[in-house]
Amino acid sequence: MSEVVNGLKQRQPASSQNGSLNVVIEGSQSGRNFQGSNPSSWTKLVMDMYPPGTSIRSCTCSYCNVEQPPRAKHCHDCDKCVLQFDHHCLWLGSCVGQDNHCKFWWYICEETALCLWTGILYIMYLKANISRAWWKDAIMILLLIALSIVIIFLLLLLLFHSYLVLTNQTTYELVRCRRIPYLRRIPERVYPFSKGICRNLYNFCCVRSSIYSLEPLPSSQELEEKARPYTCLDILACRCC
Ligand SMILES: [Zn+2]
Ligand SMILES: [Zn+2]
Repeated sequence: MSEVVNGLKQRQPASSQNGSLNVVIEGSQSGRNFQGSNPSSWTKLVMDMYPPGTSIRSCTCSYCNVEQPPRAKHCHDCDKCVLQFDHHCLWLGSCVGQDNHCKFWWYICEETALCLWTGILYIMYLKANISRAWWKDAIMILLLIALSIVIIFLLLLLLFHSYLVLTNQTTYELVRCRRIPYLRRIPERVYPFSKGICRNLYNFCCVRSSIYSLEPLPSSQELEEKARPYTCLDILACRCC
């Protein structure tokens, strides 16, 4: 996989207009959303990280000396900060982040399809009425068992990443939600960056821009709305995360 991770260049702030690195805030997330409301403790926490009117939080990566945008994390293997950091893939030797998560999903999908097709060929071979030594059959059965384990792993991985995509989360955020400051006080089953399944999917598949945008922050009212339990009316109205 090509190196397409959004690494932040060294020694320049994330809000710099220099070159391809240009981080902006989407929509109306600047402090306006929070004024006049009764912000929750979570909102206060986020406001401390995103002072109104600015596009960066007061968190500087001590390794790259850049001001880290939200959802970014420094990868020690790649030695750079990665936007919307998901994980560092040891197999690919690269980080999975904002710009290549979609390619990574398709990569898993293609691997799964390839393994399934190989399994079908194995079964067809075993079923074929060809005279051959018993040990050849034994090897084929062993390979088929190993392949089945790989297929199960790939299918679970594909399902997991599909869930992340549909809810606009990353593996890092899901695993470390108790440690990441802006996710600590989020109620369970609330996805703060989700814009609904359809929009999440569209953004994931179709939105490509040289301008790296920061995620809009939900207001406390939006969070409360997301935390509201589902009713029959919500199901009829196709309310999604
Ligand atoms: Zn860094
Ligand atoms: Zn990495």
